[in-house]
Amino acid sequence: MPEKQKRPTQMKTLEVEVVRVKITLACTECKQRNYNMTKEKKNHPERLETKKYCKFCRTHTLHKETK
Ligand SMILES: [Zn+2]
Repeated sequence: MPEKQKRPTQMKTLEVEVVRVKITLACTECKQRNYNMTKEKKNHPERLETKKYCKFCRTHTLHKETK
């Protein structure tokens, strides 16, 4: 019996170019760094600004991306 020829299946490796960067969100009121997160630079090239709860101010304040 002839042996079946083994054909290696070629895996197509798709290189995903997603640039995820680690950022820190700091409260603009007390300057405490409260949140660590990642963002896609492609989607957010600008500095991230979002309202989040600050446990030091005990209220929702504006948090800005910092390094
Ligand atoms: Zn704060």
